[in-house]
Amino acid sequence: MSDRRTPAGEWEGKRVTVAGLGVSGIPAARALHGLGAVVTVVNDGDDERSRAQAAELTALGVTVRLGDGATLPEDTELIVTAPGWQPDKPLFLAAAEAGVEIWGDVELAWRLRGPGAAPWLAVTGTNGKTTTVRMLAAILEAAGLRTAAVGNIGVSLLDAVLAGEPYDVLAVELSSYQLHWAPSLRAHSAAVLNLAPDHIDWHGSMEAYAADKGRVYEGNRVACVYNAADPATEDLVREADVEEGCRAIGFTLAAPGPSQLGVVDGILVDRAFVENRQKQAQELAEVADVNPPAPHNIANALAAAALARAYGVPAAAVRDGLRAFRPDPHRIEKVAEVAGVTYVDDSKATNTHAAEASLAAYDPIVWIAGGLAKGATFDELVTKSAARLRGAVLIGADRALIREALARHAPEVPVVDLERTDTEAMSAAVREAARLARPGDTVLLAPACASMDMFVNYNKRGEAFADAVGALAAESA
Ligand code: ADP
Repeated sequence: MSDRRTPAGEWEGKRVTVAGLGVSGIPAARALHGLGAVVTVVNDGDDERSRAQAAELTALGVTVRLGDGATLPEDTELIVTAPGWQPDKPLFLAAAEAGVEIWGDVELAWRLRGPGAAPWLAVTGTNGKTTTVRMLAAILEAAGLRTAAVGNIGVSLLDAVLAGEPYDVLAVELSSYQLHWAPSLRAHSAAVLNLAPDHIDWHGSMEAYAADKGRVYEGNRVACVYNAADPATEDLVREADVEEGCRAIGFTLAAPGPSQLGVVDGILVDRAFVENRQKQAQELAEVADVNPPAPHNIANALAAAALARAYGVPAAAVRDGLRAFRPDPHRIEKVAEVAGVTYVDDSKATNTHAAEASLAAYDPIVWIAGGLAKGATFDELVTKSAARLRGAVLIGADRALIREALARHAPEVPVVDLERTDTEAMSAAVREAARLARPGDTVLLAPACASMDMFVNYNKRGEAFADAVGALAAESA
């Protein structure tokens, strides 16, 4: 059970339905067709792009049904779905009735691993996954291991698993959707970084969301890494069915207890993977080695270090890997300093939990926020951050929700409410923020909202911010 693989020969003639063209569907259809399966792809959309993608697959001999993602093709023996497809879709209800198994892209990759395949070090959580997985890969590389950061990070797990030259170990980012559809996945070790409400519509409830995240711990062999400051993550470890001898390892920003990693006097220390954890602690790196050294990012570094140490990586490689790590753009990225004010782009803070982390990292702050709230409320975020706010500039469709929360909990904080949603609105927001800021302050773009009301995505929102700051710098030069 712990090491389920589908032998290559078993795919010959197997009728597999792939649900969804796209980043996971196309490679899945190709791989399964290559193994001899009879593949039908079903897709809701029937636009120009999907027609072009379909034509490529049809040329290989794969059947593609566009504009009909609801009907279960006859004689389907297995469905391989894109992770984002919601469990209550008619296709899945029909599959349940017919007793057809459903796998996601991660489950497929897990089953197609070759003998002696690389173990997986898995990371999930509401926020910080990409950062942690990249830090982990940097640490593993510093230890001289052949590795890659893969999964929800945008690099196909299937490609990694089928790679000609095998990896030693994989740093795998998993979303809650992917975990939902990966029933037999068994990682070497895994971490849940934190748990806050997100994607509740998809999962149906907070409990269901947490349970899907918790699947990452199922069958772990060496370590289940949890966040000591977020008891819900530790609960998930307790509920998981793991291999005998697998340990629960906590990470904390405080001094670590036995079986924890934590921080003492500006040093990241390990009291888990040492010979005598009652008496001994191993120095790993300095807080200053973490880039940027914001509290939540130190937590990410500790989680990455815990997984690497669980895999047996020496302390020096943790330090070297963290030093080599460069954050992805738009994640607490310092853009410029203009007239003594620091401008920071955290456009990736697309929910309140993420924004709370970056607001905790600076003081005083002129906060640029707003966009699509996705059903979120802002009272808690504003209450926790009010004392640090020099002012706030609000943009986007749901800015009234934030304005009202500020009026309720921080009436003394000056607020500029920008009604504009045109492409120049960000430049106006930055100017207003500059007006409110004093030397020594930080202007922080941490919208706590999705970007799609005004921008193509959070990248474009961050770029608009950086451009506006650039213009400001040029004027004041
Ligand atoms: P994910 O892959 O989970 O979306 P990222 O590493 O891309 O996470 O970070 C997304 C945003 O979440 C960051 O811009 C930052 O605002 C916030 N963030 C990162 N790490 C944490 C953390 N450990 N706790 C809370 N928020 C975090």
